Amino acid sequence: MDDILSAKLAASTDMVPVEGAVDVEIPADELWSVFARPNLWSRWNPCFLWVLNSTLVKDEHLVWCFNPIKKYYPYVMPAIANIIELEPGRKVTWEVTALPGFYAHHTYSIEPLGPTRSRFRSWEQATGAGFRAMKRFWIAHFTFVKDRSLDGARALAEIYRRDGNLYAVTEPRDPLVVLKDGALTATAAVAPLWFYRSYVRSSVVEMAPGVHAVLGGGGNSLVVESHGEALLVDTKFPPGSHQLAKWVKRNIKSPITKIVNTHYHYDHTQGNENFPHATIIAHVRTPDLMVQQDGEFWGVHRSGLPGVGVGDAGQTITLGKKTIELFYPGPAHTRADLVVHLVEDDIVATGDLFFHTYYPFFDLSRAGVAVPGIVSAIRAVTERFPTARVMPGHGPLATMHDLRDYASYLEHLLEAVGRAVAARQTESEAVRTVSLSGWKRKVLPSFHGSRLSWGTRENNIRNVYRALVGQSRGGDSPPSPASRSAVAYTNGGSR
Ligand SMILES: [Zn+2]
Repeated sequence: MDDILSAKLAASTDMVPVEGAVDVEIPADELWSVFARPNLWSRWNPCFLWVLNSTLVKDEHLVWCFNPIKKYYPYVMPAIANIIELEPGRKVTWEVTALPGFYAHHTYSIEPLGPTRSRFRSWEQATGAGFRAMKRFWIAHFTFVKDRSLDGARALAEIYRRDGNLYAVTEPRDPLVVLKDGALTATAAVAPLWFYRSYVRSSVVEMAPGVHAVLGGGGNSLVVESHGEALLVDTKFPPGSHQLAKWVKRNIKSPITKIVNTHYHYDHTQGNENFPHATIIAHVRTPDLMVQQDGEFWGVHRSGLPGVGVGDAGQTITLGKKTIELFYPGPAHTRADLVVHLVEDDIVATGDLFFHTYYPFFDLSRAGVAVPGIVSAIRAVTERFPTARVMPGHGPLATMHDLRDYASYLEHLLEAVGRAVAARQTESEAVRTVSLSGWKRKVLPSFHGSRLSWGTRENNIRNVYRALVGQSRGGDSPPSPASRSAVAYTNGGSR
């Protein structure tokens, strides 16, 4: 549990908790036995489309997908939470941390009212800048969840009155019905699963003795151990950062004495505080960018801010018997990136100069991207470390050849969009005319400025167009169809 945010939530006046209860003619134990099987929730609680977990386990992730508030809304909302409290038979609470600037607790509880009746309660509260920015939507969403959940408990009471048990909800389904249900929900279920796989789940690869890449669950992380010391490059964000901390505790014998943040973005830095004894190193401008761009988070997590700044000339540090070169490649993904080179192992961690196999995310804030800069930065990296193996900021491990390929993709994108701008095309015309065929990449979800944005072909074109004409994000251009689904995701209340 994030104790600081949890205390903040308890003290918060951002919202009155959305809560409600219903008394039902079902013994508490019977009700709990159905409630404790999340993957069956969609059978009785109409706010859930699909839930991954088959049991409730404290400290585990809960992964699910909500139905849309209105049937005709063309979106489903994938969600992930940490189960932070579990009183079997009575109560479960989870915390939602996966949206930056958004922190929520949701509690369901069951209270016995004598031997044959019980009270089913739903309670939810949220806080944070991201929540406040879309308060109307979130309150509508919480109310929808509460109302549908209470309706669901009433439906269970109806089944119990009719059958004297709840087998109708728990019994294995006729395979044909399952198939039909499956077909109906498959598309929707793919959304949270894909979201989970591409953004939450992590995997570990040993790149050299004492060098592990922990891929996914936020930005990629590199764990380096040498002679009683350990270093971490990038620390992810909750919940991936918790998984990383657990993995380090289980697998790395030496204490983490140093952290290097490749850049300021939350998905590479918000796990810093999990390693309180580490010296945090970043480019000298990075702490200011963190506070400027994500002030609300860093205001209450000040000990996670880098304390050692590396200037534009770069720096070489040692870790046990390893030499580590910190290289500043010029303004690129942000105004303050660092590339990390393990000299003896010849391994490079590029940070977000490199999104391998994915469409990149371009940070169009003042702290962010210089598109031509990324290309020259990558060229500088490939020339300086020509034989190194590469851990990108996102995506699987790569080679220098992959990195050169990626630079060619960016060059192509820049040239093609540049031609559209020179021909005085509008942004939407550029989206229609710029061809990126032959450069197929995967879509990456990410949250920036408290909203979900997608790394997609279309957004790559739009972002580079805006970067080239000097327009910042959220300018006059109409939202793209792709970003419209993201708007629905986070801002459906205003539709
Ligand atoms: Zn980034």
